[in-house]
Amino acid sequence: MTKPAASVSTEPFEIATRILNEYRYSYGGISPFFRALAEEKKLTGTRCPKCATVFCPPRTRCGNCYVHTEWVELPDTATVVSAIDCYYVPENYELHDYLDLPYTLALVRVDGADTCLHTAVHYDGPHVRGKVRPGARVTAMFRERREGRLTDVYFRLEKEA
Ligand SMILES: [Zn+2]
Repeated sequence: MTKPAASVSTEPFEIATRILNEYRYSYGGISPFFRALAEEKKLTGTRCPKCATVFCPPRTRCGNCYVHTEWVELPDTATVVSAIDCYYVPENYELHDYLDLPYTLALVRVDGADTCLHTAVHYDGPHVRGKVRPGARVTAMFRERREGRLTDVYFRLEKEA
């Protein structure tokens, strides 16, 4: 093997480039959750037959008992567990096209579930910092154009009494 001329660096030569990979992503065992969202505008979860924990988003197995879970239908109502006001949306974030700044991201516990969904919460009127608080009641709203993504659903703050 010939050696490069003494004036040529032997360090790796790098250039900037972009690689676009398109692929099909499978939800595997939790496919029914996304199918119900996209095709039926319904929230579903899974229940452990041993300890009765209800998971939403679903899990195919209970992390406590290691047994297969069973599918359950859930209502479209939930309670906010935590929330944060957001003033920035990453450019490639899938919610980017749907959100006006600022917006509220929250963990909500769907009624009947023991775990929380990470979702956006909307309400009528101008954005008010801290308006979405833990304990607030919210209702699921399903986007017009659904694609089988978690962002097919968001929640709307119920009218305050
Ligand atoms: Zn269990």
